[in-house]
Amino acid sequence: MINVFQPMLGEEELAAVAQVFSGNWIGRGSRTEEFEQAFARHIGVPGDSMVSMNSCTEATFLALELLGVGPGDEVVLPAVSFVGAANAVGARGARPVFCDVDARSLNPTAAEIESRLTPATKAVIVLHYGGHPGDIAEIARMCRRRGVRLVEDAANAQASSVDGRSCGTFGDIGVWSFDHGKIAVAVDGGMLHSPDPHLVARARTAAYLGMEQRSGFDEAARARTRWWDFEVSSFGRRSVTNDVLAAIGTVQLRRLPGFVRRRQQITALYDTLLAHLPGVERPPPLPAGHLSSHYLYWIQVDPAIRDEVARHLYRRGVYTTFRYHPLNRVAAYGTPARLPGADHAADSTLCLPLHQGLTDDDVRSVVAGLREFVTRPAPRTPARRHDAEEGRDAVRT
Ligand SMILES: *Cc1c(COP(=O)(O)O)cnc(C)c1O
Repeated sequence: MINVFQPMLGEEELAAVAQVFSGNWIGRGSRTEEFEQAFARHIGVPGDSMVSMNSCTEATFLALELLGVGPGDEVVLPAVSFVGAANAVGARGARPVFCDVDARSLNPTAAEIESRLTPATKAVIVLHYGGHPGDIAEIARMCRRRGVRLVEDAANAQASSVDGRSCGTFGDIGVWSFDHGKIAVAVDGGMLHSPDPHLVARARTAAYLGMEQRSGFDEAARARTRWWDFEVSSFGRRSVTNDVLAAIGTVQLRRLPGFVRRRQQITALYDTLLAHLPGVERPPPLPAGHLSSHYLYWIQVDPAIRDEVARHLYRRGVYTTFRYHPLNRVAAYGTPARLPGADHAADSTLCLPLHQGLTDDDVRSVVAGLREFVTRPAPRTPARRHDAEEGRDAVRT
């Protein structure tokens, strides 16, 4: 099978893990710190503003806690969001309010988010769909102007930026993922960044049982105090990662630029091969100054045939998927709101295989499967042919 997502791990990562094993310290330690520092450098922020976590979901839960989101508050997020973001809102006793997304880019506009703000809105959570930064600069300006906090779910955007500024650094808090399905992986793991040192300090404490260490690793303080003493003034959780995973993540981070270059080539190859395929829309082009991580490559087809296209490719040994199942259709969130952009995207979009391990021949084989399907003779029943053609025209316009 050709996978949609696939990590690329090898000898270097194994050697890094072996080194950690031989040191007898596998918990959170110097390698975790090194991983935080390396990622902070990559993003272009101070090393002490980056906090490693055990997952991006955990980082999102923590972010809303740090921002004081609570019962009665509303948090606006696009309907096409990772489910963990909405769960984080619900877990605070707050209400997720879904905004629409652009049908093609699957990112929300600042104006659309603003139209959902009410006096109860405490925060906004946005992601960068597929790695495309979207309207993030304008969204951040609007949130500041309206006095609403902004959390960036930058899980798709490990290497995305706008005019040289990394995604994840536009809002009050940015979170990233290094789980098994992302570009650079640490098997599992996340990062949290804030430009506000108070939020960062609270994040560090909350991520480790709420313990405020008095001496820590400060030698002078240790000489004066018992280093096992601590104070707790807020109830923390245990959201830290460890040196084994951090060692893997650090190697992957070094390889990330190469991964993204390969993904960019694959994206360009898809663009070329799909350019003249009837009824197949490609992702919109990136605006000037925007760099994408190329996390997803998505096409859009007539909703009447989308599922059949997926099944046809599956039978040919090609996995596809749709990210992210629209949350306005999830019963638990109880919002039957009509969101035409998200609804159209959810019914017409298919994410094609995209990972740095794909060969050009893999990509050609995916496209050959698609071509076979969309250029096959029309179905024999006149009624069905009529429907399909109508739908296809609707997509093209
Ligand atoms: C993968 C992903 C997450 C969750 O990351 P974990 O580290 O698995 O918790 C969050 N948001 C988006 C957009 C993702 O793709």
